[in-house]
Amino acid sequence: MKAEIIAVGSELLLGQIANTNGQFLSQQLACIGIDVHFHTVVGDNEHRLQSALVIADSRADLFILTGGLGPTKDDLTKEVVAHFCKRPLVYDLKSVRAMEDYFSSSGHPMTENNRKQALVIAQSTVLQNKHGLAPGMMYTRENGKMIVLLPGPPKEMKPMVLNELLPLLQGSSKQMMIKSRVLRFFGIGEATIAAKLDSLLQTQTNPTIAPLANNDEVTLRLTVKHADPIEADRRLDEVEEAICSQVGNYFYGYDDTSLAKEVYLRLKMRDWTIAVAESLTAGLFTSELATISGASRVLVGGVTAYSFSAKKSILGVSARTLTDEGMISEACAHEMALGVQALYQSDVAIALTGVAGPEEMEGQAVGTVWLAMKLPDSQMITKRLMINGHRQTIRARAVKYSLFYLLE
Ligand code: ATP
Ligand code: MG
Repeated sequence: MKAEIIAVGSELLLGQIANTNGQFLSQQLACIGIDVHFHTVVGDNEHRLQSALVIADSRADLFILTGGLGPTKDDLTKEVVAHFCKRPLVYDLKSVRAMEDYFSSSGHPMTENNRKQALVIAQSTVLQNKHGLAPGMMYTRENGKMIVLLPGPPKEMKPMVLNELLPLLQGSSKQMMIKSRVLRFFGIGEATIAAKLDSLLQTQTNPTIAPLANNDEVTLRLTVKHADPIEADRRLDEVEEAICSQVGNYFYGYDDTSLAKEVYLRLKMRDWTIAVAESLTAGLFTSELATISGASRVLVGGVTAYSFSAKKSILGVSARTLTDEGMISEACAHEMALGVQALYQSDVAIALTGVAGPEEMEGQAVGTVWLAMKLPDSQMITKRLMINGHRQTIRARAVKYSLFYLLE
């Protein structure tokens, strides 16, 4: 079944509101395996709505319209669709009664315009509106195509879809289930991942694999279609395994997780606390970890030690290290991590020092970063990174690499 969603409302065309109803409907239809082929947005205009219906008729079997079921003059969806289907509008008695009850208990007079909201297309299935006055409806035409009308306000439309429409649609067709799984990678570019997975990307059709690069990360969205949910999961597992056998070193999590969230979960699971000493990132790492709610369970504190004297007096980096090795050095990162760990008595400590640019420092190139990590169950681990980019990119990437290495 091919579906088209038609959002009706001039405010959508004027950019005053976003078409979140279209987004919600697409998500819900995907869950029951109905393919949405088109989204249309049309103003509150009889002729243009009429032509949108004609176009939809040429390319879809199910049209779902939202908006324009209200009592005002610009609300004309029902009238136009009834005319399109060559059906009269008739009063739905249940809705009339609900409306009368509402107005008598609220003490407001009920106008003829209000009563009009209880009109539905003759012989349609009425979708009750428990959060407003205008009922929705589903009408099946002689050629088997279905037209669904839903109110515009999301707080009325959403429960109507979940409680009334989806069960009806599921009953009327044995549809495939669509399931998605997003795999997240860090430290590998989109082109490299695509090259490594070339044959898989070329041949794989169910699930499909869609790569996307965003914010220094690459995601692969796997989407499977199958009537049996267990088989759908099995296929997703199989393709995930094939992907991870090639690029598993860069994989760090699923769906909408983040590096910071994974680090937080890892620390929490082990019951470890963390303290952070930052030079070039000046608090960015600490701040990133603090975006995760519940961070206080693992994050004890951080020190921004930018200058020579701050590194020495607050973190206890030795003058000898600072003068002989320099601030951008393995030894300095090592001592910064030890210093912050002693200061906060944390289980884990991490330190970052480097050259964010634009000028080189201590004869070291822009983008040179030393990272030191101390975990309870291992020796101090140090890493030298060479990060490309401008100052802010280098600082942001230094944080991401540090989070990623904490997951190793
Ligand atoms: P009402 O009885 O409130 O007039 P209606 O069914 O006639 O409802 P509209 O008049 O088209 O619907 O829209 C009412 C409100 O619902 C809009 O002002 C907007 O806030 C919201 N709305 C309408 N369509 C959408 C949409 N596609 N996405 C998100 N919000 C929408
Ligand atoms: Mg309206």
